[in-house]
Amino acid sequence: MLPLELPTIQNWSCHNCGGCCRQHAIAVTPEERRRIEMQGWTADPAIGHRPLFVSSGPPWNRGCRLAHQSDGACVFLDEQGLCRIHAKFGEAAKPLACRVYPYAFHPAGRKITLSLRFSCPSVVHNQGRPVITQKPDLRELEELVVPAGAEKMRAPPVCPGQQLDWPDLLVIVQHLEAILALGDLPVAARLLRALAVVDLLGQSKFEKIRGPRLREFLEIITLATATEVPADLLTIHEAGPAGRVQFRLLAAQYARKDTFAECDAGWRRRWSLFRAAVQFAKGRGNVPPLQPGFVPVPFAALEQPFGPRSAEADEMLARYLRVKVQGLHFCGRAFYDVPLVEGFQSLALIFPVVLWIARWLAAGTGRTALAVEDVAQALAIADHHHGYSPAFGQASFRSRVCSLGKMGDIERLIAWYDR
Ligand code: SF4
Repeated sequence: MLPLELPTIQNWSCHNCGGCCRQHAIAVTPEERRRIEMQGWTADPAIGHRPLFVSSGPPWNRGCRLAHQSDGACVFLDEQGLCRIHAKFGEAAKPLACRVYPYAFHPAGRKITLSLRFSCPSVVHNQGRPVITQKPDLRELEELVVPAGAEKMRAPPVCPGQQLDWPDLLVIVQHLEAILALGDLPVAARLLRALAVVDLLGQSKFEKIRGPRLREFLEIITLATATEVPADLLTIHEAGPAGRVQFRLLAAQYARKDTFAECDAGWRRRWSLFRAAVQFAKGRGNVPPLQPGFVPVPFAALEQPFGPRSAEADEMLARYLRVKVQGLHFCGRAFYDVPLVEGFQSLALIFPVVLWIARWLAAGTGRTALAVEDVAQALAIADHHHGYSPAFGQASFRSRVCSLGKMGDIERLIAWYDR
């Protein structure tokens, strides 16, 4: 097994909210299916004659996942929000996907980095034991999920055609994380500084910039770009009309939630999504609700300043960015095989997306200032998709991120929704 690097700023323990068992499709291997079938659930009155599994995936790659109840919950979730398999047979009897969530293990050369999914409310709120103290359990999971030969996987390129070896790539990652950790700056300013460095990395050739030279280069461009980020972010202009359309469509993708019932609705669901996309592109009238709990509010209401946020909300946003960067949860194998620069741009866009969704949640109850819970909920909604929904790895999503990057609108959107 390779050394496991854990995030030092994150806590987590399961608080049995059952949220993950309601919103994820749990794929099971043929071996897991056999094991669960052997557990004798058909004789259990709580399960009755409900099917335990359903087929999933396209016809050419058919798989199997756990069935769900009519409200979308996993077939094994009980009325108290607890897992019946866990209660009866212990944690190790559950499918591996359930055991691993919310952790994510990522090969990083001669080590494995660990990140967490912020779709779990306990992760968002930093509740539970420090992750750093959970090493023995995490080593067990590492053995189960990290494939043999993981150390041979190539590092993601910095940008197309610019390949570095793992040690050099990790120097860049650590450097970005150090910028995001600058405690004396507001989180938006830190993100803008890191983004300015990433933009320059995207224009650089690395044939001769390696090892100690790379560290020197990073120091130089960090100093050079520090002055590019104004002390007062309010002086940064709003994104242009094209950028605003692209951003709304991107935010809509993050805000969307496809329940199992909606997936079964077929063409009716597709038609309603198409109409919602048209409304998002226009950006006039009310924002169409994309999931239960979202109240229609005018698009214009979300463009007003929502005032300063609490220190707690900003800590959440900063921790999110740092955990994702430390854990390599933004590029390469963990993020649709995209290069580092593009992956960081996608991650940076999460910031305005989360604040836009948080505004929607606040405006839905008539508020014009954000509460911590708005940000927490928005973060969980957005991160549910980030790196996991197949649509986010497709050309249309990727070209949206790239065109926002080329227009310089990512920076503008960060500053605009930071107000
Ligand atoms: S098997 Fe258990 S832990 Fe996994 S989704 Fe179902 S209820 Fe949740």
